Amino acid sequence: LPSEFNAARPVLQTIEKAGFEAYFVGGSVRDTILNDPIHDVDIATSAYPSEVKALFKKTIDTGIKHGTVMILDHHEKYEVTTFRTESGYQDFRRPDKVTFVRSLSEDLKRRDFTVNALALKEDGTIIDLFSGLNDLDNHILRAVGKPEERFHEDALRMMRAIRFASKLDFTIERNTQEAIKHHAPLLKKIAVERILVEFEKMMMGQNLIKGVQYFIETGLFQYCPGLKNQQQALKKLLHINPNAQLTNTTQVWLLICRILKLSPKQSHQFLRNWKTSNELIASVEQGLRLADAIDKHQVNELILFQSGLFVVEQTTAVLALLDPNFKADDPIKAYHKLPIKSQQELAINGRDLLQAQIISPGPRLGKVLTDLRDEVLTNRIKNEKSILILEAQKLLLKLESE
Ligand code: ATP
Ligand code: MG
Repeated sequence: LPSEFNAARPVLQTIEKAGFEAYFVGGSVRDTILNDPIHDVDIATSAYPSEVKALFKKTIDTGIKHGTVMILDHHEKYEVTTFRTESGYQDFRRPDKVTFVRSLSEDLKRRDFTVNALALKEDGTIIDLFSGLNDLDNHILRAVGKPEERFHEDALRMMRAIRFASKLDFTIERNTQEAIKHHAPLLKKIAVERILVEFEKMMMGQNLIKGVQYFIETGLFQYCPGLKNQQQALKKLLHINPNAQLTNTTQVWLLICRILKLSPKQSHQFLRNWKTSNELIASVEQGLRLADAIDKHQVNELILFQSGLFVVEQTTAVLALLDPNFKADDPIKAYHKLPIKSQQELAINGRDLLQAQIISPGPRLGKVLTDLRDEVLTNRIKNEKSILILEAQKLLLKLESE
């Protein structure tokens, strides 16, 4: 067993010694059998949250309503969740009620896919009630139980299906795929924030082309913000380098905005609709401006400076995915040659100018500083304080004569 499991074994042993059952469940079990690295181990137990809390010195109620207690043990954190069933799915979203139960099989039955419904005992025994091991061997993603019912209960599972198909490079089993096609419109009922999480993970999976193929074939894209009727544009993704793997969400959205041919301004509204963060929106807008300048052979020091290294790197990575002949290194090298990489690196600031008593506070101060920055950036003057002061005086004279 991987070290993460070994470290957590005492937690399971403590629960079992008290007469309850405890298992590793979910993604960590699946990924271990696949020999993939694991992130966090999830533990499921027959003990109720109050019973779990009574067994450990330090616990935090992270999701007590849903039965999750965090255990702090030897500076490690473990999420322990009571076996539960979910009932009363309304509006095809999250259940409005969870019921704690004592039986593992009830808990595994409510899980989405067979490969996600395996349980692992502390002694290494695997509990496999839905032939998840067989599906893992065959790289198949199959809904637990009747797919039609499962997607009707919770429509987000359809996005999770394409996420795992991409992440694991698995084939979605026929009936599961058909049920997604049939229920795709139910995605409208799901909060955009939750669709966003699965979509981004799909785009960052090891077989993003496979994920996108399912996304198109099942019609799920029709119910995502700004993607309605964008089949033709989305199909461009099927032709990118098959070994491509996106490493962050800026790349994800730059790629999507480029294939949709969105202007920086249009991307702003598009990403607002997807409810991404303001930080991401700013990066993508700037990346699109840079990409536009690259298209037009108009890259200059100013746009590289305004982009910053992160945006330059993400943008060139995405352009290289779309065009194998694109030389991603060139803009990055040009960025590294910039005389200054931030306003702070300018050898003079507002306070220096005020102290030299050549200017008084006001809008002209900002204008002079920006002009000085641009002159340094474009190598018209050296980044030295005395030179900058002289130049500032010249700029002011010019401003006054205007
Ligand atoms: P990852 O490694 O990406 O975290 P994961 O399988 O752990 O993958 P999570 O979203 O963390 O995915 O969910 C943990 C487990 O909870 C899943 O493996 C699955 O058993 C169950 N699960 C999560 N969301 C749902 C859902 N919407 N419907 C049914 N079961 C779910
Ligand atoms: Mg997980």
